[in-house]
Amino acid sequence: MQNITWTIGDVRITRIVEVEAQLPFEEFLPQANPEALAPHAEWLRPHFLNEDGTLTISVHALLVESAGQRIIVDTCVGEKPIEGFEILNPASYDFLDRLAAAGFPRESIATLLCTHLHFGHVGWNTMRDGDRWVPTFPNARYLFGRTEWDHWRSEEEAPFTSTLADTVTCVIDAGLADLVETDHKLTDEVRLEATPGHTPGHVSVHIESGGEHAVITGDMTHHPVQWAEPTWGISADVDPAGASETRRRLAREHADSGTLVIGTHYPTPTAGHLRTRNGGCRFEV
Ligand SMILES: [Zn+2]
Repeated sequence: MQNITWTIGDVRITRIVEVEAQLPFEEFLPQANPEALAPHAEWLRPHFLNEDGTLTISVHALLVESAGQRIIVDTCVGEKPIEGFEILNPASYDFLDRLAAAGFPRESIATLLCTHLHFGHVGWNTMRDGDRWVPTFPNARYLFGRTEWDHWRSEEEAPFTSTLADTVTCVIDAGLADLVETDHKLTDEVRLEATPGHTPGHVSVHIESGGEHAVITGDMTHHPVQWAEPTWGISADVDPAGASETRRRLAREHADSGTLVIGTHYPTPTAGHLRTRNGGCRFEV
């Protein structure tokens, strides 16, 4: 779980892992049965298909440094255990220590961006203070998508948004949040891009600097095989057809373009390029 750093022009992006877990492929992506997976096994191995047939999910934050600003994209699972997802509870809650050790003490973060409001992306928005939850990043503006917030605030509590009150609502109530549109510009080099389907207001992060491009996926994919099989989704996808269409669109836009694709849940090495092979799309590292 080493930190990894990428450079896109003048922008630096650093991965800080919170937790990794191994899961049976079909449990996570129900369409990925052994027969369907077989044609992809060769290009997925060794990073994205383990020897024992499982996949590895990484939960990590991405620290984007642009125009003198420190931006944290997605804040992992956090300190609150999630019922039914115990496999994603970190063995130790030392994420903030590791963030600081990497040069990013929580007080130094200027902007926090959640690609969407599922529990694995909002966890460290807040931290425990006795029996209360308080904002972890006291000097940051917290950016939440307006469309995303409008959707979940009116929904019954769902398993994937079970932490909303303690990680999002309380930050909004504290006056630290800005509700932003899906094409919001964070700096001249960093902007949001609407990638709906997994959730209604889901955004990816597009970085452009010095003629180079990168995209942080969020959950518009969870695993690289979904670039080759865009109809393969997970149970949490709110609109499976919309999620498939978004994956197809981004594959068209970025295949063979040189764009560095950084997966929010892809295990090490986490980033790679989309290439056309045999008429299909592949993720290559
Ligand atoms: Zn999600």
